[in-house]
Amino acid sequence: MKVAVYYSNDDVRIEERPVPRIKDGEILVRMMACGICGTDLMQWYRTQKAPRVLGHEMAGEIVETGSGVKGFRQGDRVFVSHHVPCYRCHYCIAGNYTACESLHTGNYDPGGFSEYIRVPEENVDFGTFILPAEMSYEDAAMIEPLACVVSAQKELGLKKGQTVLVIGSGISGLLHLQMAKLKGASVVATDISPYRLGKALAFGADRVFKAEEYSADRLKALNNGTLAERVIVCAGAKQALDHGISSVDRRGKILFFAVSESDLTIPSVRFWRDEIGIGFSYGASPEDIREAIRLIQNGMVDVRRMVTHRVPLSDILSGFKLASRGGESLKVIVVPDSTAESGQAGRDMYPESESPVDMEKALSLFDNDKEFFREMCRKFLDSVPQQVDKLSAAAMTGNAELVELYAHGIKGAASNLQAMKTCSLARCIEDRGRDGQITDVPLLIEDLRLELARLEHFVRTMK
Ligand SMILES: [Zn+2]
Ligand SMILES: [Zn+2]
Repeated sequence: MKVAVYYSNDDVRIEERPVPRIKDGEILVRMMACGICGTDLMQWYRTQKAPRVLGHEMAGEIVETGSGVKGFRQGDRVFVSHHVPCYRCHYCIAGNYTACESLHTGNYDPGGFSEYIRVPEENVDFGTFILPAEMSYEDAAMIEPLACVVSAQKELGLKKGQTVLVIGSGISGLLHLQMAKLKGASVVATDISPYRLGKALAFGADRVFKAEEYSADRLKALNNGTLAERVIVCAGAKQALDHGISSVDRRGKILFFAVSESDLTIPSVRFWRDEIGIGFSYGASPEDIREAIRLIQNGMVDVRRMVTHRVPLSDILSGFKLASRGGESLKVIVVPDSTAESGQAGRDMYPESESPVDMEKALSLFDNDKEFFREMCRKFLDSVPQQVDKLSAAAMTGNAELVELYAHGIKGAASNLQAMKTCSLARCIEDRGRDGQITDVPLLIEDLRLELARLEHFVRTMK
């Protein structure tokens, strides 16, 4: 079988290994989706144990069960937790599952970035969960990251009406943001990337700041003169830590969710006088995992729009590069080579039943001239994505007039190409507008990008 062996962030090698043999009480799982985690990219941490097969956000299908396995059978779709508590030690007995030594040291074999994974008996007993029928493997790959957020927020004691500052709007920041909104908090989010700030708005942030423009004073200015009651640091950079430390209100709490390589320096006198609580969080308990499954299943937390890219196992290195660059990506999911439609993911990109263009209608408009139609589509695809980028930039600067202008330009281009009236591009703009005003720009941009990608795929595969 193929496994991806991590040496460093730009050296991940595909190697051949025998499929693991399972013993009594164990199961063998075929990996169907495994997320690349921010911690997989912490080179200073990961190279300590390299070379190694990483991957701990894994969902798959059971292909073999050892004798004595109860409750699971071949063909079951499962999420498997790599870390499980023993339920016997004094930490476990006290309910502190993430402090359990077994949880810290156990793992499945060889890791999630592998075609097949042997699941040890304790992970079968305490860490294997059958997926609800409607949950996709990609959604299930988001169970572990969400469970860690659920676990961390339990300790944070977030309450309705509080102001939460989320520093860093990558996957963990966006999950924290959604959970905080669910609890009725008001959320201010920061990031260095305009793309991620757009995502933070789309996922419900009340206010966003570019990191370089953020300061505790600006937070105060929009928060009735007070700092944030809860601060969640989801980035490891020095500036992120500084912003976090300077932004906690009296008797507030700061959670360092992301870990930084260097030791933290806390202004102890201020933290003493202001009675500020400091928290850290590691991993998740089986209870948190169950909660995460429920949240995804009920649509309380939207994980699907967080998956922006998928890469086949054999091309995992490009996934690592993509994820470590940050840029225009959120969650990158590794999938088996056989099922891979590499590239942009997010929602169901190319549903068979729903073509972005009504071909019959389009061809009647173009006198059945397929080549001409294709040419028109290509011209459209040459110019419109740039206009969407401009629209996105205008939205970032908050210039409503420019936003309207670009949106109408795109709509105009869509109607010029008559056939586009039969695709959903122009409709996107209409749907997001009310009385001629666009109401939700980040969502509109996302819709437009999705539709453009669908159209692009359509033109590329058009026979
Ligand atoms: Zn993770
Ligand atoms: Zn234990």
